[in-house]
Amino acid sequence: MKRVYNFNPGPATLPLEVLQEAQAEFLNFGDSGMSILEISHRAKPYEKVHNQAKADILELMDLGDDYEVLFIQGGASLQFAMIPLNFATKENPGSYAVTGTFAKNAYKEAENLGVAQLAASTEAEIFRRVPAQSELNIAQNAAYFHICNNNTIFGTEFHYVPETGAVPLFADMSSDMLSRPWDFKKFSLIYAGVQKNLGPAGVVIVVVKKSLVEKSLPTLPTMLRYDTFYKKNSLYNTPPAFSIYMVGKVVAWLKAQGGLAEIAKRNARKAEILYAAIDESEGFYTGHAEKNSRSLMNVTFRLPNEELEKKFVAEALENNLSGVKGHRSVGGMRASIYNAMPIEGAEILAEFMKKFRRNA
Ligand SMILES: *Cc1c(COP(=O)(O)O)cnc(C)c1O
Repeated sequence: MKRVYNFNPGPATLPLEVLQEAQAEFLNFGDSGMSILEISHRAKPYEKVHNQAKADILELMDLGDDYEVLFIQGGASLQFAMIPLNFATKENPGSYAVTGTFAKNAYKEAENLGVAQLAASTEAEIFRRVPAQSELNIAQNAAYFHICNNNTIFGTEFHYVPETGAVPLFADMSSDMLSRPWDFKKFSLIYAGVQKNLGPAGVVIVVVKKSLVEKSLPTLPTMLRYDTFYKKNSLYNTPPAFSIYMVGKVVAWLKAQGGLAEIAKRNARKAEILYAAIDESEGFYTGHAEKNSRSLMNVTFRLPNEELEKKFVAEALENNLSGVKGHRSVGGMRASIYNAMPIEGAEILAEFMKKFRRNA
């Protein structure tokens, strides 16, 4: 069996052990004589999977029972709209830091509803960095302050938790949730489309303070209200059961690896290896992100010209290194090194980068 080192940004690499486990129980889940794809979401065996995944997520994040885990469909992109619909008004707008494509998409949804306030933007600098605390102009009447914790396309990440005073802090953590221990308690709402770092596409994890979602605006459609998911344990309608089952396996795998402290060490090591390959290349490779904003999950860099970039992608693939082409809005390369990427993958890519440069 030939498997590549998969640097795709999302859907992305998953732990091999997790895929093998799912394969082994695919035809007969928990002695039911059926696949997990075929059983009712109201059946006990499914319910166990659902509740265990929720409990493991809170445990990994070191959050207590004042938080709830919701499973919602529609991708992180639907959260961009659900958040202002549920929480923002003209009097108490949503405040946003615009630090990349997805952060901007989130801001635009609030803007369309007439409930957005711009706290900071680094767009004029092609999103090479995230703003410093001193640059954040968060309206003190804001219903929330929203950040995108890791900017998947540009390869930047917040390495501090913004201070927001009395304003609740919300974060899109689609591409770095559960990649490191973090002060999650400072956040009131965290969400992540799982297809980057935590599972297959199809579900968004929303971790939210219960006090925020006990009651939503009654005028909102049922499926756009957080309280619908909260009151029914995310089982109001049929949940994406297979995605949640896979997320459950990934979080169990994370716990077995030693939790977030251990995975953070590995993630830091992988990032260190790749950024060193860029920094030691005497200008052959140039990183897109400013050093103090560099992402530990998505490493973005350019080569001297587009011809070399095309050649790099093609030769990388010949060397079993897949998915290194960058997003069209940034150009160049992007190596996504999520939790499931082994350190060895980063080492082999760094070796390839050195060899490619010598031969160029
Ligand atoms: C991929 C991504 C999104 C979009 O997620 P969908 O689930 O495709 O809607 C949003 N935010 C971030 C940070 C992402 O990486």
